[in-house]
Amino acid sequence: MEKEILHRFYKKSHAEKIKALYRAEAISEEDYQALTKETLKLSPSVANEMIENYILNYEFPFGVAMNFVIDEKERLIPMVTEEPSVVAAASNAGKIVGLSGGFQTEMKERLMIAQIVLKNVSDIKTATKNIQENEEEIIDLAHAAYPSILNYRGGARRVDVRLISADTEFETPEFLAIHLVVDTGEAMGANIVNTMAEAVAPFIVELSGGSRLMNILSNYATESIASAKCVIQPKYLATKTMSGETVRDRIIEATQFALADPYRAVTHNKGIMNGIDAVLLATGNDWRAVEAGAHAYASKSGQYRSLSRWTKDEKGNLVGQLKLPISVGSVGGTLSIHPGAQFAYRLLDQPCAAELSRILVAVGLAQNLAAIRALVTEGIQRGHMSLQARSLAIRVGATGENIERVAKRLQEAKHMNSTTAQEILEDLSK
Ligand code: NDP
Repeated sequence: MEKEILHRFYKKSHAEKIKALYRAEAISEEDYQALTKETLKLSPSVANEMIENYILNYEFPFGVAMNFVIDEKERLIPMVTEEPSVVAAASNAGKIVGLSGGFQTEMKERLMIAQIVLKNVSDIKTATKNIQENEEEIIDLAHAAYPSILNYRGGARRVDVRLISADTEFETPEFLAIHLVVDTGEAMGANIVNTMAEAVAPFIVELSGGSRLMNILSNYATESIASAKCVIQPKYLATKTMSGETVRDRIIEATQFALADPYRAVTHNKGIMNGIDAVLLATGNDWRAVEAGAHAYASKSGQYRSLSRWTKDEKGNLVGQLKLPISVGSVGGTLSIHPGAQFAYRLLDQPCAAELSRILVAVGLAQNLAAIRALVTEGIQRGHMSLQARSLAIRVGATGENIERVAKRLQEAKHMNSTTAQEILEDLSK
């Protein structure tokens, strides 16, 4: 990739951006043509098969975050989002982290969990023993239900038994939850593990003496934890009015607050998910699954807390760390049918599922850094202003060059609101 060609990418026109990506060899000629001719869209005939009662393709903007260095590889990050400042913030943080060596990421394993939930198990001890003793047979049954997974070096790995005790506060009875833990290869695996769970459930019921309540994957993907880390020299954090050391310390304090206070932690983590969701959407992955898992993980101590940690090392560098469950696929699902998602994968250089998981966490950490840095320095609104002004201009009916004209005057106005925007637009039309 010819990075120089992408310099000041945000300043280029839409056509220049696409051309620059092609000239920088970040996209193929085929993708250049497809972007120019706008053919990377979901066709209505495919969409009609995807959901029930389909009537319209509802579009969101697809942008590219720049400046990311993840595990020593330069990356362009595809992001689909409706929130104005997300792509710019990610690019900004990517640049700051890149100056200090980029992100280091890790994912030790990638396993999905299917739950077979039993009720009315009268003898928990015997049921547990029977299930454990027949683990191999259960795994064989799972493979018989989804044999192709073995071709992809995946397969069921083990069976865990969890007792969910009765709880008088919620008047819930006792349950036995059987976890089928599966390596789903390159797939996210929801359909794979659900098929397997359904197939093994009758045998498990037989072994337990209880009755089946349901079987379904768990989106709390605790066996698919990805993490990212970055170490930033304070000088790269400085603003016009604050030293890098002050910004570093304020970022650490902001995280300490988000660790302690759930009201802040929710917004802090929402900022992280701004980045992660945008990449999940772009790549056609199930963002609700990752969202749900992330928030459960944020509560694993019993209190909802910040997912990230910002500390300083012995040299005074700011150290950021983020860890969360990520369940994504590099095959199957929406990706197999959506041309935009397929393009996002190509832009990312076709990562495997684990690699994509690691990229996602790095993007989340970048988004978090950008948000906290803005919050503890000039505040979040200033950076939002120009994009907000453009949104307002469009909302009151400005088109073409008038959007920029209205936005510029709006930023100089005393009150940035739709009445002022309307007045400016009327004035320009005189
Ligand atoms: P698919 O059902 O598309 O399954 C993936 C398929 O990809 C496999 O069956 C296999 O097909 C093929 N494949 C090709 N190469 C590989 C490889 N290397 N490793 C593994 N599979 C490979 O998708 P998933 O099972 O991943 O399910 C994901 C979808 O399920 C998402 O769209 C998600 O939204 C949805 N979903 C989510 C739920 C949730 O609670 N989160 C619940 C239910 C569905 P073959 O065997 O034919 O080669």
